[in-house]
Amino acid sequence: MVYGLGIESSCDETSIAIVKNGKELISHKVYSQIETHSPYRGVVPEIASRAHLEKINSLLAVCIEESKLTFSDLSYVAVTGYPGLVGSLMIGAQLARCISLVHSIPIVLVNHLEAHLAVIGLENELPPFPWLGVLLSGGNSSIYIYKGFGDLELLADTQDDSLGEAFDKVSAVLNLPYPGGPIIEKKAFEYVKPKGEKSPFPKLLKEDGPDTIRFSYSGLKTAVLYYIKSLTETETLPIEKITYYFQKTAFELVVRNIRKAINRTQIKTVVAAGGVLANETLRSYLQTEAQNQSFQLYYPQKKIYCTDNGAMVACLGYHLWNEKKFVGLDFKVSPKRNFEQIL
Ligand code: AMP
Ligand code: MG
Repeated sequence: MVYGLGIESSCDETSIAIVKNGKELISHKVYSQIETHSPYRGVVPEIASRAHLEKINSLLAVCIEESKLTFSDLSYVAVTGYPGLVGSLMIGAQLARCISLVHSIPIVLVNHLEAHLAVIGLENELPPFPWLGVLLSGGNSSIYIYKGFGDLELLADTQDDSLGEAFDKVSAVLNLPYPGGPIIEKKAFEYVKPKGEKSPFPKLLKEDGPDTIRFSYSGLKTAVLYYIKSLTETETLPIEKITYYFQKTAFELVVRNIRKAINRTQIKTVVAAGGVLANETLRSYLQTEAQNQSFQLYYPQKKIYCTDNGAMVACLGYHLWNEKKFVGLDFKVSPKRNFEQIL
């Protein structure tokens, strides 16, 4: 029996989890700072670090208590080391160092983005590598070739705004709350599209041929802005219509990019993850595409695994522990995505 602890503090969720054998969740606590940052319409790094510091020890205590384990039962402590807000990462890192020092438990340093993908191991038998890892979150819109634990190659990236960021910015333009994802999804769902109606927004990156795989969402945000400006004073803001076509336009680019990535790599296992995967419309776009194009699709079924969470860190940590990928007490954290760059 291998029990491992996962610590996540890279952005605006403080989270601790204990996982058994890399696939069974024993206890899990997630504290979201969304309400704290909401008045600022974005994550304020200094406030985030302080909130992590205030919460992290009590989450750990509850997690250990609920698990009915003691620290001496743990084989490893996994902690998110990169990428993320450095001040926030340091809070989790320092907790990992303390646990390691006091209880002589090895530390495993986890790539937050990789953990988002590997978390499917808590709900499925892991498919054989390589996978195409599609990350759609507040900070990323990217596709990776996931070759093995700790081995990711970037295949496609965003040129500007990430998909989650686009949701948040469009929400602001529509005077809707932060974060934008859940409310935009709800409004879009309420729209009844008249037959034959055309989208008010242009197809994204339509100039890109089959060999160019990239994301760009800032143009869509601008298109929404211009559409609103084009309305006359007497017209009410058609929020449901705008959110419906915003999602449609944004998700069609995701689907197109996945299709291109499969064509280029011939990899037929697609794992999609990140905060935006909480969106039911996106999930059904991906399911339809998987059926049409016959690829194996995975994404976290439980929405708590879409958001930042400690379970994914403990889960990936198990596999890295298995490969003896430990770090010393003097390990560094980094805002960068690339592990080589931080060593
Ligand atoms: P993360 O960066 O993984 O913590 O995810 C946060 C991002 O996911 C924010 O930009 C949210 O607006 C976005 N998000 C959360 N829920 C949804 C949803 N239901 N639909 C679309 N985006 C979402
Ligand atoms: Mg978050």
